[in-house]
Amino acid sequence: MASYSQRVLEGVKAKNASEPEFLQAVQEVLSTIEPVLAANKKYEDSAILERIVEPERTIIFRVPWIDDKGNVQVNRGYRVEFNSAIGPYKGGLRFHPSVNLGILKFLGFEQVFKNSLTTLPMGGGKGGSDFDPKGKSDNEVMRFCQSFMTELQRHIGADTDVPAGDIGVGGREIGYLFGQYKRIRNEFTGVLTGKSLRWGGSLIRPEATGYGCVYFAQNMLATVGDDLQGKTCLVSGSGNVAQYTVEKLNELGAKPVTLSDSNGYIYDPEGISTDKLAWIMDLKNVRRGRISEYVKHFPKAQYFEGQRPWNVPCDCAFPSATQNEINGEEARTLIKNGCKLVAEGANMPTDLEGINAYLEAKILYGPAKAANAGGVATSGLEMSQNSQRLSWTREEVDAKLKSIMKNIHDNAFSHAKEYASDKSFTNYVTGANIAGFVKVADSMID
Ligand code: GLU
Repeated sequence: MASYSQRVLEGVKAKNASEPEFLQAVQEVLSTIEPVLAANKKYEDSAILERIVEPERTIIFRVPWIDDKGNVQVNRGYRVEFNSAIGPYKGGLRFHPSVNLGILKFLGFEQVFKNSLTTLPMGGGKGGSDFDPKGKSDNEVMRFCQSFMTELQRHIGADTDVPAGDIGVGGREIGYLFGQYKRIRNEFTGVLTGKSLRWGGSLIRPEATGYGCVYFAQNMLATVGDDLQGKTCLVSGSGNVAQYTVEKLNELGAKPVTLSDSNGYIYDPEGISTDKLAWIMDLKNVRRGRISEYVKHFPKAQYFEGQRPWNVPCDCAFPSATQNEINGEEARTLIKNGCKLVAEGANMPTDLEGINAYLEAKILYGPAKAANAGGVATSGLEMSQNSQRLSWTREEVDAKLKSIMKNIHDNAFSHAKEYASDKSFTNYVTGANIAGFVKVADSMID
């Protein structure tokens, strides 16, 4: 007879057939927590899986705004409030043309387990819009954000639901959103994280996802007596996560050689040093340009239009762009070319076939919900500072981030060992999923 999780998965497939990313995320979790379900009958008795795969609340709304030509534009806004068993809903907002309900449900579902792993009291949620900030003026982005928040504000709050950034939502957007919330609600609270330092943000929050992902990689390497010194690393993406991954890799003596955007990737065999990164940060964050411009400025580098960086030989890979950016074939190519470690800065960057390739090859694989949890963990630290009306120093926040990433690693590691049939290999996918699941499931039962 099919197991409990297999039966629930069949039900999820029947109900959510048009949401492939959500199904993929659910399948990955349900297929790895079987041992804990088998050992604890209470989960099936209380129908915990049927409940955990269903968002508590989904809000969908119209976002009308006026472009610079005076024309009315209409986008769709969403907030998926997935699970509040262990704290207020917490998770980013994504503005990207690919956004739909299925994508946000996958991200919200992942966020539930990720937030549980951080050890901080945060439930899981995600939101966003199919609005594309690319090519829009500051004024257009501002008008969009204000309209978006005019509806969203009635559903969120510092003790209810605390959004933050994700793809397409950075410091600029958080500023416009926060300003509108404050104006409508007439209250200054920690309702959003990723705020500017000048008005309630936390030091290290911009750096946290990238730094945390590299700390996670360091922790994995330490289990086999290795470190990042001298390692050639592939990084994809060129936004916030990728930028601070490159910064930390340089600081630790590794050599990042690639970055990308949706048009292609750059390969710099001499390494993307801290100086070159400063140029990229100006290009991306201030001039809002494309990564292809790098090769005009640094002619020893090459640009590959329409391609992803996964065929470049490397020791370590840090996919930090978006979901499903590594398929089975690309994962096998990475391994064939010598890659011994993958730490995921993006959410679900590897598809199920790719994950199986990593596990079969027994490389060090840090799945997204563990490896990139440093971002939301530092959002949790921002919430604590806001509640206390205090600001911690850079050193304090970084030390807390480091220790949270070590806890997440050790927690995933020990759960992997406890439930593995092959004790010689650490399956961080199983470890992270079980560790994240148990805390939320037990809280729901309580
Ligand atoms: N978007 C980030 C994530 O995927 C951060 C969310 C947050 O800080 O709330 O975890």
